Amino acid sequence: CGIVGYIGPREAGDLLVNGLRRLEYRGYDSAGVAVVNGSLDVRKKEGKVDALADLLASRPVKGTVGMGHTRWATHGAPCDVNSHPHTSSDGRFAIVHNGIIENYASIKKRLLDKGYTFESETDTEVLARFIEDVQKEAGLDFPEAIRQTLTRVEGAYGIVAVSQDDPDCLVVARNGSPLLLGIGDGEYFVGSDASPFIEFTKNVVYLSDGEMAVIRRDGYEVFEIEGAPVSKEVHELEWDL
Ligand code: GLU
Repeated sequence: CGIVGYIGPREAGDLLVNGLRRLEYRGYDSAGVAVVNGSLDVRKKEGKVDALADLLASRPVKGTVGMGHTRWATHGAPCDVNSHPHTSSDGRFAIVHNGIIENYASIKKRLLDKGYTFESETDTEVLARFIEDVQKEAGLDFPEAIRQTLTRVEGAYGIVAVSQDDPDCLVVARNGSPLLLGIGDGEYFVGSDASPFIEFTKNVVYLSDGEMAVIRRDGYEVFEIEGAPVSKEVHELEWDL
């Protein structure tokens, strides 16, 4: 339902939670964050963003790269386990996802046959395991594994992913679910709309359907999920706070 992402010099935890609060107006049933700092830390909880904030108060995260999600369940009941982010089996990378993976059932069946196990009932966890499988089979780096996986996925999605194996990187993709980048000074934001980051920057890049972005500390690249590079304009938002 709602997505926020961050890479830059600030501590990501509070920034992500505050971003999720700004997305609450959209409605949701659970919330979660993942932050990379050497390892990948995931905190997620059914209920309000306040419940996630309480969890983070008792089990804090540290790190300057991460993402957050408010979920509106489509596949699997609202509960802690079905909340996003969802990870690879080994917990080394995580994704958040808005939308629906239409061909998740056939992908899940294939992965079950290969011995993969699932904790949740979501289409999103199937996508996480699928990325993991594509990465293992083809020995790809993290962004390329996501790209190749998405060429084999049907449905609507806005996605953000982080990995402890590529720790200074956010991978973002869009197909039929809104997603934009916020371009700050030495920092980058991602949102399903601009509200989570509007207080930090008004310079945005709108991803189009079928596009993805790899955002690193020193810049970002946008390309088609099919592979071709795309050059994007930076727009200035006219909103006043
Ligand atoms: N289909 C996903 C799920 O049910 C994502 C739902 C959403 O857009 O929040 O977990």
